[in-house]
Amino acid sequence: LGLAACGGGGAGGGDDVGTGDGDGAAAASDITVGVAMPTQTSERWIADGNSVREGLEEAGFEVNLQFANDDIPTQQQQIDQMITQGADILIVASIDGTALANQLQAAADAGIPIISYDRLIRDTENVDFYVTFDNFQVGVDQATSLLTGLGVLDADGNETGETGPFTIELFAGSLDDNNAHFFFDGAMTTLQPFIDAGTLVVGSGQTSIDQAATLRWSQETAQRRMEDLLTAHYGGGSEPLHGVLSPFDGISRGIITALQNAGMGPSIADGLPVVTGQDAEIASVALIDQGIQYSTIFKDTRLLAEQAVIAAQAFADGRTPEANNTTDYDNGMMIVPSFLLPVSIVTADDIQSVLIDSGFFTQEQVDRGQ
Ligand code: BGC
Repeated sequence: LGLAACGGGGAGGGDDVGTGDGDGAAAASDITVGVAMPTQTSERWIADGNSVREGLEEAGFEVNLQFANDDIPTQQQQIDQMITQGADILIVASIDGTALANQLQAAADAGIPIISYDRLIRDTENVDFYVTFDNFQVGVDQATSLLTGLGVLDADGNETGETGPFTIELFAGSLDDNNAHFFFDGAMTTLQPFIDAGTLVVGSGQTSIDQAATLRWSQETAQRRMEDLLTAHYGGGSEPLHGVLSPFDGISRGIITALQNAGMGPSIADGLPVVTGQDAEIASVALIDQGIQYSTIFKDTRLLAEQAVIAAQAFADGRTPEANNTTDYDNGMMIVPSFLLPVSIVTADDIQSVLIDSGFFTQEQVDRGQ
């Protein structure tokens, strides 16, 4: 029994699946899937971890799920351990997408298929499949919602004729996360024409991803940068700022805290700048419901977990999982066959239809903010 498409030389490595079974297909219960998640500080990853574990267990797999506290050596060690403890398949959401080449070489040498989860693992040929969302579209949607919140676009995405000028600031995610680049590219592709036309002005002039980046997607780091920007460019909060592009709800909450502490708001109706987000974290959904954060991007992690399980199942059966994108995700060594899921914008108007009707949150959770 071999697993399909095991990267490098390990393909069909033979005895890592169902060795005790004699002939015939490996029963899922003989197969252990190692699941490496980056952190429990953001609820999305806890939800991902739980959904992946449940899905795999339902399919009959053994699961070894680990979270790495956003610490790279911890994640490296966890994956090393999964391999030595006999994992047959790996599902990895990396912290630093470039830091796992040694681990994945060891995995490939052991014939273990590797599924890159949500974040692309870079600089290695030992990635067999990638399940994720349409990350470029996330950025497009973030920028679109910023423009809608400012009144430059209407609800259908058409220009209203409003030309501002609106002053904005830009935040990006962690540069070691491949997704951060897709989000920022998608957003800037959407915003640039309005910057060129003078409708949008980036008050600080900080328009490159290096200037906008937030290491490890840290809320505190984002809050400090927003405070520094307010001091340096907005008279400490007395001069107009209309919008902030934020790539992640944790970052959004750090930005909002800085803005409110500088006397802006407290809500959008009182002049708080329009702040975007991502992940529909419950704390941010509550802020959106209260008119404080403008928008977020909903990524249904239940569906992503399901795709990861489908991919694991395919490898366990000796098949190659079915990709729906084989062009966009070059990891520096190869184009990784990918399965992309759609995303959606959530503003206050969409909480019911997108988040509650789909059973992702209850009204009580939105009311409690947790
Ligand atoms: C994920 C986002 C998340 C961010 C911070 C990215 O890789 O795609 O959904 O907001 O990491 O955790």
